[in-house]
Amino acid sequence: MRVKEEVVIPEKTYEKTVRIECDLCGAEAEGETFDGSIWSAEEIEVEVRVHMTEGEAFPGDYDIKACRIDLCPTCFKEKLIPFINENGVNKIELGDFEY
Ligand SMILES: [Zn+2]
Repeated sequence: MRVKEEVVIPEKTYEKTVRIECDLCGAEAEGETFDGSIWSAEEIEVEVRVHMTEGEAFPGDYDIKACRIDLCPTCFKEKLIPFINENGVNKIELGDFEY
């Protein structure tokens, strides 16, 4: 015989991403991938990933810090790339995708 009793499961609150907005202009993304965001630009689906992680991970334990910048394609091309080019040594430009 199985004796049963009522068990109350307390309500759980957690944070969930409901939308992604560009950190610079506020444009709203159309979806997200594991670590990027999907935007539409000139009828082309664009995935933008600007993030950094650092730290170490071991089985059952990790100490990893992460930072993600959400940028729409327009701000990526018109603000981030010019900023890097003005402050960097190498010229960065949109080129063919390399595997
Ligand atoms: Zn933007």
